[in-house]
Amino acid sequence: MVRGTVAIESDRCKGCELCARVCPQDVLKMSRESFNARGYRPVMLVDPEGKCTGCALCALMCPDVVLTVFRYDSRKAAAPAAAA
Ligand code: SF4
Ligand code: SF4
Repeated sequence: MVRGTVAIESDRCKGCELCARVCPQDVLKMSRESFNARGYRPVMLVDPEGKCTGCALCALMCPDVVLTVFRYDSRKAAAPAAAA
């Protein structure tokens, strides 16, 4: 089964929520407790059940190229799914 994870350059996030809205697995959440270097509440990956599929919709949607998605396949090593 293919799974994914997301690397987030938090200090570049402007908190627009576009990625969180497009995520079909609802695993991207806006921080409620911290601000980044730009003064925004950054997005976080909250995926304790491993629901991220690595679809990369979030990375494609982000206007500031904050997200890099990695897909994992049990038969292969992790590989970038979308360029940051
Ligand atoms: S890769 Fe897909 S499933 Fe994973 S966080 Fe991004 S939009 Fe959601
Ligand atoms: S789309 Fe990009 S800038 Fe907007 S909240 Fe998501 S990571 Fe941050």
